Amino acid sequence: MFGHPGGYRSRDVREERVIGVDLGGTKIRAGLVARDGTIGRTIEIATPDASQDQVLSALDGVVSDLMTDGAAAIGFGVPLNIDRRSGVALRAVNLPLHNVHFPNLARERHGVPAGVENDGNAAALAEWRLGAGRDVSNLIMLTLGTGVGGGIVIDDRLYRGWAELGHVVVVAGGQPCQGNCHGRGHLEAHASGLAADRAAAQLYGPGAGAPVLLERAAAGDEQATGALAEIGRLLGAAIGSLVNIFAPDVVLIGGGFGAAAGDLVLEPARAAARSEAIEPADGTLRIVEAELGDAAGLIGAALVGFEALDGLR
Ligand SMILES: [Zn+2]
Repeated sequence: MFGHPGGYRSRDVREERVIGVDLGGTKIRAGLVARDGTIGRTIEIATPDASQDQVLSALDGVVSDLMTDGAAAIGFGVPLNIDRRSGVALRAVNLPLHNVHFPNLARERHGVPAGVENDGNAAALAEWRLGAGRDVSNLIMLTLGTGVGGGIVIDDRLYRGWAELGHVVVVAGGQPCQGNCHGRGHLEAHASGLAADRAAAQLYGPGAGAPVLLERAAAGDEQATGALAEIGRLLGAAIGSLVNIFAPDVVLIGGGFGAAAGDLVLEPARAAARSEAIEPADGTLRIVEAELGDAAGLIGAALVGFEALDGLR
């Protein structure tokens, strides 16, 4: 009876909120979210990594807990490629998950509409609807965390293809990628928190990571600023290539590493992107920081839930 397309439910407060689930490689963050992006009660747990059953059971636990407060739908943002025809999430780079139909599982278990989107796409959806991209029709979002995710909005629609922007090649034959990705020289291997960890260990010895690199750079250490500038240069090369395909109104940079590095990475990225971008983008290109911070994934997942509730997916 819940989620009946005929709309037999009486409108009550539960209809105004959905559950967003942001499934990450290290943590699961889920919460009740309103249409305007206001986040209510949230639950955060470590992501189990031993087996698919463990991950699914952990997800079910947090969703069941939040459902006790009442929610009209469920949306998932997951680090997997999703087959557009079947809705099956195919595989993850960093988690033991494959061939999972998240919406079907949620609908069967909780009796409400449900939707799923790749986590990078979900973050782009959130920034476009409620964040730094809300005034534009075309944007590219890159999320720089341990890895690199991304999403694309074209002509006022979220592009629902794979958008694995972290796995574009910026150095042919470069550093090996991580997890189940067997490629080399991908953006994720050269312009991520992981790449900053590697640079820090090279400069300051094993045990030094991205936070040390950022700290030293902020204090004016030229080796540290140089390493971050190199990360920015490769990020900018990727952005220039993407701009030459999609001609976005703006490129948004989010993610924990992206936010922490700020202009230490973004300034060199802007210079590199402009030198690769075709006129007139070489002059007009805007690369700015995302606004929603680490809430983008959760809010984006919830917006996917609202789309399911509204019959849009
Ligand atoms: Zn890769």
